[in-house]
Amino acid sequence: MSASMSAVGLDVQALRRDFPSLDQQVHDKPLAYLDNAASAQTPLPVIDAIRDHYLRDRSNVHRGVHELSQRATNAYEKARVKVQRFLNAPSYEEIIWTRGTTEGVNLVASSWGRANVRAGDEVLISALEHHSNIVPWQMLCQQSGATLRVIPMNQAGELLQDEYERLLTERTKLVAVNHVSNALGTINPVREMIAKAHAVGAVVLIDGAQAIPHMAVDVRALDADFYAFSGHKIFGPTGIGALYGKKALLEAMPPYQGGGDMIASVTFEKTIYNDLPYKFEAGTPNIADAIGLGAAVDYVQKIGMDAIAAYEAELLSYATEKVAAIDGVRLIGTARHKASVLSFEVVGVHPHDVGTILDREGVAVRAGHHCAQPVMEFYGVAATTRASFAFYNTREEIDQLVGAIGKVKELFG
Ligand code: PMP
Repeated sequence: MSASMSAVGLDVQALRRDFPSLDQQVHDKPLAYLDNAASAQTPLPVIDAIRDHYLRDRSNVHRGVHELSQRATNAYEKARVKVQRFLNAPSYEEIIWTRGTTEGVNLVASSWGRANVRAGDEVLISALEHHSNIVPWQMLCQQSGATLRVIPMNQAGELLQDEYERLLTERTKLVAVNHVSNALGTINPVREMIAKAHAVGAVVLIDGAQAIPHMAVDVRALDADFYAFSGHKIFGPTGIGALYGKKALLEAMPPYQGGGDMIASVTFEKTIYNDLPYKFEAGTPNIADAIGLGAAVDYVQKIGMDAIAAYEAELLSYATEKVAAIDGVRLIGTARHKASVLSFEVVGVHPHDVGTILDREGVAVRAGHHCAQPVMEFYGVAATTRASFAFYNTREEIDQLVGAIGKVKELFG
């Protein structure tokens, strides 16, 4: 085992060399990038895949008979199959390219929602959701006359499963919950929650934005009806993501947007829609970034999602212990099952001040409401400071975080 190997066998120093952006000084301090839940860094193989597309194969997909278009189409569709296999989805037809999680949720709310949700129905979300898994459902409920209900949580940031069971009735048409909370890191028991929802005939959408970089996701084992995620959280490009949907549901849904590529034929009298997944992909897609996301999926699979999860569990437990031991720091979100997110408050100091001082020490964290204002309201805070880890983070970077929090306390103490 080399000196840079972690206890679970990841050669973190070697992996870090794939991420040149990690190797820089910020304000004359080595960068400790601990804002991975907002956006992760991008490794060279992803950058190379995008570059190769632009250098060699740049052209539109599904349209040209010429060589470049065929190469671009092959790479683009190959990337879709990579995502399909990564999620263990039964068919490539069930993988729709989106701009990210937000667009995936909006697609389901607009298309499935408008076709299936009526006045008197209920849509069930949770107290832990990101705004992108709240607002589209509020909009749907306003338009349809349906009622939005919310699964409550406890002080640790765990959803109350008995309350969830009580809220599930034959009126529940859809349940939309995240797999992992971005604000707190809670891992929700989505497999069990999906089974309970199915028992009352409800359809389930899982917001996988924060689960996808941290654990193996198997949509078949989960029996998820829809699963949405974003490329930039899993070391891929921004502006690309994917939505998995069960074929029977997708086939029965009306298109989301109209335009080129989503049609089989058009006359002024009648349009026949294209097959899955193209029915949901109007217009020229984000070709290069889809290819980049395929490369990101290859990259994490090569490391192994289980190895990533094991290493990050070690990091999280080290960070939790160190940060919790600092006098005047309150951890926010202490669920038993957590992914590598550490939200905290330095009591008496505004999180934006904490974030700014940490930045001066080279530590990049997120300070804010994390697009989860209802979670902040629950804890009676306007914002938190959030450190979030990826497999390329180290104990030394956590020590740097702890030292920087010490600086905050010196300045505000
Ligand atoms: N859901 C969760 C849990 C998230 O963390 C995020 C991103 N912060 C989103 C949804 C939205 O993702 P995107 O902005 O990439 O669409």
